[in-house]
Amino acid sequence: MKAVRVLSVASEIYPLIKTGGLADVTGALPKAFKVEGIEARTVVPGYPDVLNELEGADEVLRFPNFYGGPARVLGSSAAGLDLFILDAPHLFARPGNPYVAPDGADWPDNAIRFAALGRTAAEIGQGAIPAFVPDVVHAHDWQAGLTHAFLHYSERPRPATIMTVHNLAYQGKFAREVLSDIGLSPESFTIDGVEYYGGIGFLKAGLQFADRITAVSPTYAVEIQQPDAGMGLDGLLRARSNVLSGILNGIDISVWNPETDPRIASPFSVNTLPDRAANKTALQRRFDLPLAPDAFLLGVISRLSWQKGLDLLLETLPLVLGDGTQLVLLGNGDRYLEARYSAAAKSYPDRIGVLIGYDENLAHLIQAGADALVVPSRFEPCGLTQLCALRYGAIPIVSRVGGLADTVIDANETIIAADAATGIQFGPVTSENLAGAIRRAKGLFHNKPAWQRIQKNGMTVDVSWHNRARRYADLYRQIAKPN
Ligand code: ADP
Repeated sequence: MKAVRVLSVASEIYPLIKTGGLADVTGALPKAFKVEGIEARTVVPGYPDVLNELEGADEVLRFPNFYGGPARVLGSSAAGLDLFILDAPHLFARPGNPYVAPDGADWPDNAIRFAALGRTAAEIGQGAIPAFVPDVVHAHDWQAGLTHAFLHYSERPRPATIMTVHNLAYQGKFAREVLSDIGLSPESFTIDGVEYYGGIGFLKAGLQFADRITAVSPTYAVEIQQPDAGMGLDGLLRARSNVLSGILNGIDISVWNPETDPRIASPFSVNTLPDRAANKTALQRRFDLPLAPDAFLLGVISRLSWQKGLDLLLETLPLVLGDGTQLVLLGNGDRYLEARYSAAAKSYPDRIGVLIGYDENLAHLIQAGADALVVPSRFEPCGLTQLCALRYGAIPIVSRVGGLADTVIDANETIIAADAATGIQFGPVTSENLAGAIRRAKGLFHNKPAWQRIQKNGMTVDVSWHNRARRYADLYRQIAKPN
């Protein structure tokens, strides 16, 4: 059988450039496809962080004047990933965060930058690089959404298309005045085109024109068809519900493997759980907390944003930290939350440890050392940290939304009796319910045999990409057009 060729379109890809879970997914999927008979390549912008990592590169396309400057597409590989890189220095030769300027505001030309990414993907999709003519073009999130609009408005034959929603909160909405600058005709500015509440919607365009739409969990695929989680796009998603499905994310279990992880203090497995204790001590030491093996230690690894519900955790702290319970938090984002957590650590130095920043190594140690990982998100498309927590024996305490609802089995009495629990869920998402969930977890923590059973159940859940990648592969095979 001929391999299906897939061009993935993404603005982030781990380990080259990452601001969140999107990069983890676009970085892990191509590797998982290798056993599925899928030949995958990813087109990404040529940010400095990407160009610096290339292992040799060939120029495969050249655009003398592309959105205001010369550009070329490089074929290359890096970190085991096959890539096409849009090398357009006037758009992407900017270090740091890919979307935000040093002053904290979005780059003013983001519409142009990501239109250029979409345009490049559409050109490759329609055969501009004869050595790689894809059967399917798979766009991820708003930055890639315009790809499908360019394909739609072109007269030439086009490949099959998929749009994946990793987070509907980021929509790529721009003023209608940029329509001609991004290379679309006035006819595209209609409600069945790229128009979105009077402006231009990049994600909207992708959702409008894709042959298939996926969201990153089955529950999120349902939630986004409702006004609350739909964030303005629920009507369109309801209208397209016959092509919308949810496919859960996985994690890279070679990077997240407690038996071999070089970033933790003491490797362990489901059969050597007592070895996990040394990681808890290392974590307590790292944050200058009392080295108390029996203190209930909560962990958080998160962007600090309204979505993640960590303001609710702050409200519960006086309630839940009473009896020696400890909290370590690693995160950054919202300046107000950063300040409040830093202040909380100052107020309770022997209870709370906070590191404001981004630190992959520490994230691994928290997963290995914390007793429970708290994820009180108001909405959560899939969530990856709870999957890592399951694998590392940190029991996830999560809100019952999106992918959190799909990946954690709540330790209620019936489920405990059936020995199937993997964590604690709560809902609706309020600080009272979060406090109740933490109390419930603490009760279980003091019942060591029950706690260990939940840990072991979690550690044996399949959180790998293996089966999830197969779902994408099946979808590709279904929609690939014979050529
Ligand atoms: P989102 O994509 O909404 O930020 P996910 O849970 O899907 O949330 O993915 C977040 C990813 O980023 C996980 O791999 C998590 O470990 C990582 N992460 C988030 N914040 C930090 C941080 N401050 N330091 C290290 N890793 C982090």
